[in-house]
Amino acid sequence: MEKGAELYAGKAKSVYLSDDPGRLFLVFRDDTSAFDGEKVAQLARKGMVNNRFNAFIMQKLEEAGIPTHFERLISDNESLVKRLQMITVECVVRNITAGSICRRLGVEEGIDLDPPTFEFFLKNDALHDPMVNEYHIRAFGWATDQEVERMKELTFAVNGVLKDLFAKAGLLLVDYKLEFGRHGGEIVLGDEFTPDGCRLWDAETRKKLDKDRFRQGLGGVVEAYEEVAARLGIDLGTAAT
Ligand code: C5P
Repeated sequence: MEKGAELYAGKAKSVYLSDDPGRLFLVFRDDTSAFDGEKVAQLARKGMVNNRFNAFIMQKLEEAGIPTHFERLISDNESLVKRLQMITVECVVRNITAGSICRRLGVEEGIDLDPPTFEFFLKNDALHDPMVNEYHIRAFGWATDQEVERMKELTFAVNGVLKDLFAKAGLLLVDYKLEFGRHGGEIVLGDEFTPDGCRLWDAETRKKLDKDRFRQGLGGVVEAYEEVAARLGIDLGTAAT
């Protein structure tokens, strides 16, 4: 499979065409950004760690029957995925309060949410990803009611799989964001799952082991990602070519 022209450069990943029109290359870069691109840095090894982390999680989700775009690892920092028609909303599930819910609702960080919450955000950096609801999604035609239901169902199914997986590694899955796309009439997970897009805390100490270390200037960002990977038994060795 040959890598073609760059299709899109995101803040931490780039997407390239392949010689198969139905497949794309994802390139995980060492770039990190927060606050809609206001804070940026290069963090050595992050691309490789996230690429491998994501591959491991996508395989677990597929095994649990959750359809994902992931096809296979290509190299240390590249993976091959199915090309989807993306839906421009972000789905966020929270098991514990942190981040924007604390600012929006004036609640403390660290409150257990049982049942968990679900939120939609519009994917739009210029507008700072505003929160939207199902009426906005319907009225603006971003997705059908059936697609909205399926995105919610799949996002909660991911919670069921990953809360347990992380719990076995002594980690709390605090929250995460997922994006979906359409593929052959199905709704398919079209996102990465890495510590860049979720919050993970040590279950005992509640030490943050995710991108909040970068957002909050706590240091040891990639080291924390590597610790999570090691606890999950993820091999960060040389990728298959
Ligand atoms: O910022 P907020 O608390 O709403 O984020 C909730 C979760 O979604 C966090 O795990 C965060 O890393 C993730 N997220 C993301 N990309 C965004 C917004 C949030 O990965 N654009």
